[in-house]
Amino acid sequence: MCGVRGDGDGWSTCGLGHRHWGRFGAAGLLLRHVGAEGSSVLLQHRAPWSHHGRTWGLPGGARDSHESPEQAALREAAEESGLDPARVRVRGRSRSDHGGWAYETVVADIAERIEPVPQAESLALGWVAEHDVPEHPLHPGLAAAWPGLQASARTLVVDTANVVGARPDGWWRDRVGATRRLVEQAATLIGSVRALPGSAAATAPRWVAITHVVLVLEGVAAVLAEQRPPDLLAAPGWPTRLVAAPRGTAGDATVLAQARNRPDALVVSADRGLRAALPPQAEAIGPSWLLAQLPG
Ligand SMILES: [Zn+2]
Repeated sequence: MCGVRGDGDGWSTCGLGHRHWGRFGAAGLLLRHVGAEGSSVLLQHRAPWSHHGRTWGLPGGARDSHESPEQAALREAAEESGLDPARVRVRGRSRSDHGGWAYETVVADIAERIEPVPQAESLALGWVAEHDVPEHPLHPGLAAAWPGLQASARTLVVDTANVVGARPDGWWRDRVGATRRLVEQAATLIGSVRALPGSAAATAPRWVAITHVVLVLEGVAAVLAEQRPPDLLAAPGWPTRLVAAPRGTAGDATVLAQARNRPDALVVSADRGLRAALPPQAEAIGPSWLLAQLPG
């Protein structure tokens, strides 16, 4: 039988002995806006009478029995801030399991910074720069989870020929066309939050906020950078950058030069020689990660 709206309201005691609001667990929305300068997070200043009142937390609340974490987080955020859930792009989630009770953080972004309208449960709602979040007196749940939730601002530097070659879509018949498709799709990553796979030491994803995308083009596909077709450079707010490698050269040296200029570079390439030559602060990831992020 289906649950009813509000059947999650009530207190629970978790396996760690805490008291939590939500009979079926709780969910919160970690909503970011990513601009060229970095990301900001929508935080709620909790009303004094609420549990852990006057701290800053995520909009969210108790899950009803029939709700997914995404449904609960979006419903609660809409109730608390007037947010239109249709404008929110969900990118993943992170679970904090206390044994018998769990909090699900739904990670999402939005193309435009909405002006939140605080409802009764909030003193205020506002956008806080990513690096300023730990400076606020945070709800203890958010404070504990924040190191695993924060997002680092990144410029994607794409070894385009390498990525095009990793996708068996007939690129060998039309290299320029295949590259153009990739450029169009990669531009949609700007302004979004994405998960990188966890490291060997930690299985949790690491979150990145993509502020810029630089696509290095080589060979016949370099014509796209030289012609600078306006439709390829029309990402909202600021441009995708197309950089042509010099004629007759592989793109590697140009990718390296871009990575050296950008301390926030996340280089997309499977080329081992290139990856070994990257400056220490640059990180590399394979084409399969990028291809998995692209719209279908
Ligand atoms: Zn607990």
